[in-house]
Amino acid sequence: MKKKPIIIIVSLLVLAGIVYAFVGGYGSQTEMLPETEEVEKVNPVGPAFNADSAYAFTQAQCDFGPRSMNSVGHDRCAEWIVNRFKAYGCKVEIQRADLTGYDGTVLKSQNIMASYRPELTTRILLCAHWDSRPWADNDPDSANWHKPIMAANDAASGVAVMLEIARLLNQDKKLNIGVDFVCFDAEDWGTPQWADVEDDGESWALGAQYWAQHIPGGYAPRYGILLDMVGGQGARFFQEQMSKQYAPDIVKKVWRAARSAGYGSFFPKTDGGAVTDDHIPVNDFAKIPTIDIIPYYPDCRQSSFGPTWHTLADDMQHIDKNTLKAVGQTVIQVLFME
Ligand SMILES: [Zn+2]
Repeated sequence: MKKKPIIIIVSLLVLAGIVYAFVGGYGSQTEMLPETEEVEKVNPVGPAFNADSAYAFTQAQCDFGPRSMNSVGHDRCAEWIVNRFKAYGCKVEIQRADLTGYDGTVLKSQNIMASYRPELTTRILLCAHWDSRPWADNDPDSANWHKPIMAANDAASGVAVMLEIARLLNQDKKLNIGVDFVCFDAEDWGTPQWADVEDDGESWALGAQYWAQHIPGGYAPRYGILLDMVGGQGARFFQEQMSKQYAPDIVKKVWRAARSAGYGSFFPKTDGGAVTDDHIPVNDFAKIPTIDIIPYYPDCRQSSFGPTWHTLADDMQHIDKNTLKAVGQTVIQVLFME
């Protein structure tokens, strides 16, 4: 995924707001407070998310090496993901397609779709990409810019959280709505920073673009939640701007669930950046209101996605079980409050 240029416009609007407030346009701070303050009880529902298990699922994907498009690690990892979801009682389908990368490379794409209780009509979509970036083009050392990343966080962590949820739902058997876990391929072959080609944003999320234009007729989950980079150290999940535009009610629902699950500190009720990610085509083409849980590091100089984003440091040493737990338990809370 990458940042959307819209962030500049947003920043300008925020700046204008600050200037407006500074010249006395807004009410005083003390007048504003009671409106924004909410007293909410922590009341966890559903099974306890096991962060050790999610961590092991993250490690297992990394053990295949980089999972970039058309690589051996990629295909072996696909098989492993399919077998895991099947072991947890899901009905699994693979959607294969030949997609074209920004550089003309034919990408052998496999979107993996696993369904918990496929017979139920009320459904929620959870999704994450599973391919890894072939180039560490944001690495501080330019000698690494053409090397593949291990992608423990981006995005083994998202698939790991989904697998742990599938494992728990199968064990618990109490959730009476259907859940579809979609692992998107070909997200991270987007135009590298070192390329001579201009990045118009279209070269990202290719698997999700394909999926969203080829979903079975009549498939209409209530909403979707995309998980991207949900295991990083020091991650905080600000409210992503495109999610707020497409599905403001779902943003509210998920951030409220985080607070009632006891993980509100990981989910500040504050705007983050605007991001080009798999949720864009799912909203645009499939018309499923879908939000993105993605970290935002306002003070990180390396990237607002965090210090390891598209660098060789995106490895297991920078995965934090506390982050996996906060996100996993929040998604469980959302499902069981439905
Ligand atoms: Zn990425």
